[in-house]
Amino acid sequence: MKRRNFLGLMGAAGISATLATEAQAGGNIHFEGYPGSKGVLFDATRCIGCRKCEVGCNEVNNLPKPAKPFDDLTVLDTERRTQNEAYTVVNKYVQEDGTTVFRKIQCMHCLEPSCASACFVSAFAKQPSGAVTYDESVCVGCRYCMVACPFEIPTYTYNDPITPKVVKCDLCDANIKAGRIAVPGCVSKCPKEALIFGERDELLKIARNRIEAAPDKYLDHIYGEREMGGTSWLYLSGVPFKQIGMREDLGVQSGPELTSGALSVVAMVPALWPLLLAGVYGMTKRTDKINKKEKADAVAEAIATTQDKAKADLKTAMERAQADKEATVKREVAKALEEAAKAAEEGEKEEEGA
Ligand code: SF4
Ligand code: SF4
Ligand code: SF4
Repeated sequence: MKRRNFLGLMGAAGISATLATEAQAGGNIHFEGYPGSKGVLFDATRCIGCRKCEVGCNEVNNLPKPAKPFDDLTVLDTERRTQNEAYTVVNKYVQEDGTTVFRKIQCMHCLEPSCASACFVSAFAKQPSGAVTYDESVCVGCRYCMVACPFEIPTYTYNDPITPKVVKCDLCDANIKAGRIAVPGCVSKCPKEALIFGERDELLKIARNRIEAAPDKYLDHIYGEREMGGTSWLYLSGVPFKQIGMREDLGVQSGPELTSGALSVVAMVPALWPLLLAGVYGMTKRTDKINKKEKADAVAEAIATTQDKAKADLKTAMERAQADKEATVKREVAKALEEAAKAAEEGEKEEEGA
């Protein structure tokens, strides 16, 4: 179905062109975020690495139970990424002084998501709620989103041959909108209030207040306030963010701003597809025409060659006939002269006998 949809879209040059235009526009406009949109503040100084947030996420999303139980904290000895069956994971980072800092990982819900910008069928969307959601019904499985995400978050269900899809945290948007839960599953399970769910603007105020109240405890930096144009998940830490596995090289420009040119080209591909197909069809027809012309030329050349040969043969034959005719005439003349001479000789003999 998805591939049929895809081909349907590809065939509809108008729709594809519209999508391309939207993607291009999205790549050129800096988006400051929806007013009142929600997010989560994670405070690494409070996290104890208990993995209860993983439990909450697993339960609220009806995910399969992991091979090792959630209370097995030896899992933290290996650095992990999010997976198809784990939309969030907690990692442990041992510092140079031997202390341990934990960090929770999930989709950052960027204000201007690179994943959404890269997706030419608009399967990803930044919602007014703050969540970046994914619609598998329109996904064509190109996985540009996975390449585009600077935080390496989306995963893909490669082992599902019938309905493969992209997987990531949705900020519990569907569950919250449906009224099944009031706050994300991970937030509700945290025993240390290392996670706070609320309006992003309010979370920024809380974060600033914490930094001001305990400047020795916190870095004077709210990760996500400006990184990649801003994210709905915000982080506080007492150690440099790269020491808890977070990229510090991303800058403050959003993904779409950084890659607008390249992404516009990506979006142009489906837009140009019908034209390319038309071009290929045209080329094929032209090739047919060329083939037909070549055939006609070859036939004409063969006819011309045959005609030339026929003419040459005819000329040779006529020359030969002419030569034969002349020889015959000569021979007949010689014969006639010979007979005439013979008759004259016999006539002289008869006259002498008479
Ligand atoms: S973290 Fe990655 S998947 Fe999540 S919104 Fe940002 S770009 Fe998209
Ligand atoms: S917000 Fe929801 S989906 Fe995302 S990590 Fe938390 S529980 Fe999981
Ligand atoms: S539940 Fe809270 S304290 Fe426990 S690992 Fe998750 S974020 Fe950290």
